[in-house]
Amino acid sequence: MSTIQMTPTVKDTTKLERIGAHSHISGLGISDSLDVSSMSAKTCGLIGQVKARKAMGMVHKLIQQGKIGGRAILIAGPPSTGKTALAMGLAQQLGDDVPFCSLSATEVFSLDISKTEALTQAIRRSMGVRIDEEQEIMEGEVVEIQIDTHGGAKGGKSGRLTLCTTDMETIYDLGTKMIERLTQERISAGDVIRIDKATGKVTKLGRSVSRSRDYDAMGSDTRFVACPEGELQKRSEITHTVSLHEIDVINSRQQGFMALFAGDTGEIAETIREQIDQKVAEWRSEGRAKLIPGVLFIDEVHMLDMDCFSFLNRALESEMCPIVILATNRGQSIIRGTNYTSPHGVPLDLLDRLLIIPTAPYTQLELKEILQVRCTEEQVDMTSEALELLSRIASETSLRYAIHMIMTSSLVAKKKKSKEVQLQHIERCHKLFYDVQRSTKYIMEYQNQFLF
Ligand code: ATP
Repeated sequence: MSTIQMTPTVKDTTKLERIGAHSHISGLGISDSLDVSSMSAKTCGLIGQVKARKAMGMVHKLIQQGKIGGRAILIAGPPSTGKTALAMGLAQQLGDDVPFCSLSATEVFSLDISKTEALTQAIRRSMGVRIDEEQEIMEGEVVEIQIDTHGGAKGGKSGRLTLCTTDMETIYDLGTKMIERLTQERISAGDVIRIDKATGKVTKLGRSVSRSRDYDAMGSDTRFVACPEGELQKRSEITHTVSLHEIDVINSRQQGFMALFAGDTGEIAETIREQIDQKVAEWRSEGRAKLIPGVLFIDEVHMLDMDCFSFLNRALESEMCPIVILATNRGQSIIRGTNYTSPHGVPLDLLDRLLIIPTAPYTQLELKEILQVRCTEEQVDMTSEALELLSRIASETSLRYAIHMIMTSSLVAKKKKSKEVQLQHIERCHKLFYDVQRSTKYIMEYQNQFLF
């Protein structure tokens, strides 16, 4: 059944990024029956790694069924095989406002805060609190609303349309018209439309806007639409999702919210966290807030020590625990700070709790597809010969090195006044920037000259 939900959203900043290393990833690209869609690159940005994605799809199901408690995931595989990308894909698949916090195990060891404080902050950064606030819609007010033609997340066409309301009856009519438009696939998520009050004519204005002055510019015939389950609702719900850590920092008198921007929050008093947990529990019992476990991704897990592992073991038992995904590219490794060797450098009691997902090296064709997706993301046009050469370089050196070369070779192309990156631009960058093998070999030659 088609529904329009009056759920204006205040966009969480957790996942706002510039063009980052993983900004092309928007999900796992896997269906309910765990099939990897051939359109996945278009829909989710992930290429290949089919088995790992299917395994992640099952993890997604476990999470949805609330059966992940007490367990964590370990992604084991060679460098640049998409371990971080998969963890991010899972977070995206879980929902738009699901927090994703990624850190390298070495970041836990800082001079400013203790290891357990660093881990506590990471855990609370990965826990979202979705707060619903009911508000009476006022004449002329501006909200964002969610429209879902199938009443659910699966397969339906869902559009977030930004409109502005006056009269509820008009709103109802226009809402019905908007559903018709959505089903005709002329409007998609994020589009802003204008509906003429008198004629009901729908015009597409552009993509979603976020500031009120943009709404003002849209003119007075742009209207709100609201009718959940076909019934008119006079109230709107504003949903904010913030992380527990953000609430901690904002309420920490010592730090204040400015510390969020500086990223330097220092240690947060345990009493503050207890108060926040109490408050959140109150909101939850009143039905005003929901806890949203996000994804905490810890790379290079073999760099953690026994204290950190014991802490994580305990944390996994708590209700306030996000989905913990660990990653490693080590086989056997010494557990940091001990003389014991263990698989992946992880103690046996934690290993016991892990679902281990391996990632495999990419074929040259897959590398080419990933590089193509990155070119699109970085808005770089590249000739097919240049892309072919870059994928060969990726298979001989590393995917990361080849990805770095997209932007550098595009700068060379621009300098040469070429609209697309050509073979010679890649060759130029390959000479200017060394991959790890070449730079090591280069330095070793000098070392030998000094030593002998
Ligand atoms: P490391 O072991 O060095 O931490 P990793 O296994 O976490 O590496 P990523 O950082 O996820 O690898 O991958 C390197 C780059 O390649 C990133 O930009 C990532 O988004 C991209 N990438 C890796 N695998 C895929 C894939 N299957 N589809 C699309 N992009 C990918």
